[in-house]
Amino acid sequence: MRYFPIFLDLEDQAVLIVGGGETALQKLRLLAKTNAHICVVAPLFDPEIAAIAKKNSRVELIEREYSSQDMDNKRLAYAASDDETLDRLVAQNARSAGVLLNKVDDPSHCDFITPSIVDRDPICVAIGTEGTAPLLAREIKAQVDKLLPANFGALGAMAARIRPLILERLVDGRDRLRLWERLLAGPFRRAVLNGDEAHAQDVFETELELSQTASVELSHKQGVKQDQKEIATTKGHVALIGAGPGDPDLLTLKAMHRLQGADVLVIDRLVSASILDYARRDAKRIYVGKQAGGPSVSQDQINQILVREALTGARVVRVKGGDPNVFGRCQEELAACQLMGIEVEVVPGISAAQAASASIQLPLTFRGTHRSITLLTAATKDQVISSDVMAFMKAGRPFAIYMGVKLADEIVNVLSSSGVDMSEQILIVENASLREERVFSTALSELSVCVKTFSIDGPAILFVGLSYDEMGLQADPRLKAHELSNVVSLSRQVV
Ligand code: SAH
Repeated sequence: MRYFPIFLDLEDQAVLIVGGGETALQKLRLLAKTNAHICVVAPLFDPEIAAIAKKNSRVELIEREYSSQDMDNKRLAYAASDDETLDRLVAQNARSAGVLLNKVDDPSHCDFITPSIVDRDPICVAIGTEGTAPLLAREIKAQVDKLLPANFGALGAMAARIRPLILERLVDGRDRLRLWERLLAGPFRRAVLNGDEAHAQDVFETELELSQTASVELSHKQGVKQDQKEIATTKGHVALIGAGPGDPDLLTLKAMHRLQGADVLVIDRLVSASILDYARRDAKRIYVGKQAGGPSVSQDQINQILVREALTGARVVRVKGGDPNVFGRCQEELAACQLMGIEVEVVPGISAAQAASASIQLPLTFRGTHRSITLLTAATKDQVISSDVMAFMKAGRPFAIYMGVKLADEIVNVLSSSGVDMSEQILIVENASLREERVFSTALSELSVCVKTFSIDGPAILFVGLSYDEMGLQADPRLKAHELSNVVSLSRQVV
């Protein structure tokens, strides 16, 4: 991000526009909405510029050639004369005077860029493309414009009026947040948008009263150390959400809403930072993922963290990779919450096998042939290979293996000594849905060689018993790049 978006207070600040034609007019139209003092300097003015100045006492027209003194005491300056030599001079003067400059249509000489704006004063949506594609900004502006009712700003204005009272009456930040959420989503919002201020005020007063009562009750209960379960049912909540395989576009809307509403996030290792961007910046973040070499947090400790945080009345969101109910230790976390009477919900996510199958365009079921798909973990809880792998291999039905690549050596060892067909083709999808995604195909006998040769150390899914040929589909072309035979023959050539 080269240009950092900020909202600048121009109340009673001086702004200079050099130019009197169409370019200057476009800037003036926008700036005239602020409370800045605007000086427009040019020997000749477009009649519309003159008309704006006539109606607006804060716009001053200086009808002469530009002089460097015009830059004195200005906050912002626009070089908008359509005369390249003059605009360059204005740019130079602005630099020496330390005034922020916008040279119209010349991003390389701009200290700031005026964004595309959707104006619902006091609410303002600013859209920027760093000068690369103004058309895109216009497209977004049109969409946002449709999305926000014309009088949306009334909500902002009303919020400004009631904010001091809310601050005064509700001490706990979380209580305030909940009240705001209720006000801005329910009858209060409807009344404001319908222009019925009196009704909006009534609703607000009732809601504020309710929030205060709930808050007092809770602190009373905490004060006398009543049964913790009772407190929890009054307020705390845990959502075990699936963050999907990594691509933020594969997050469900529900998971996104839970992230946005979280007070506390309890985060797994496989959850990417771009997904956490949906959460409030001030939400408390607790990382419990086991990083190689890093401190590991036991499942018991994670359960305790969820319960402890929920009992403070927080909305706790436990963020897990993929789907929480697929190899996600959800059973323990659900049980811990249920035991303490904490309200808990599970929000599904896209599991790695689904994302991998979509990426490589290889369906998990095939009418008439594959009536089931099994999701297997290669590892038992003691990190040795699960006997299920062998059983399913022998049964000849398709399955997906999670947590398998680290155990590749062991899988090959165990299976080769148990009469399994070692020529069976295995497909591997590493980092499914992420930019680093890679795909491989190997005979079972070469599985560990393949894992080592290509250093497959990201999260990966192995598919067994699924074949493009059988389904009459074209194989993913990326598989060719990672054929073991290519690498082996290449290294032979080198020798
Ligand atoms: N709940 C998760 C699984 C957690 S177990 C889900 O539903 O996907 C962790 C294993 O999931 C990893 O060892 C790997 O086998 C698999 N996995 C997770 N993310 C993956 C990804 N982006 N690509 C491929 N496999 C992935």
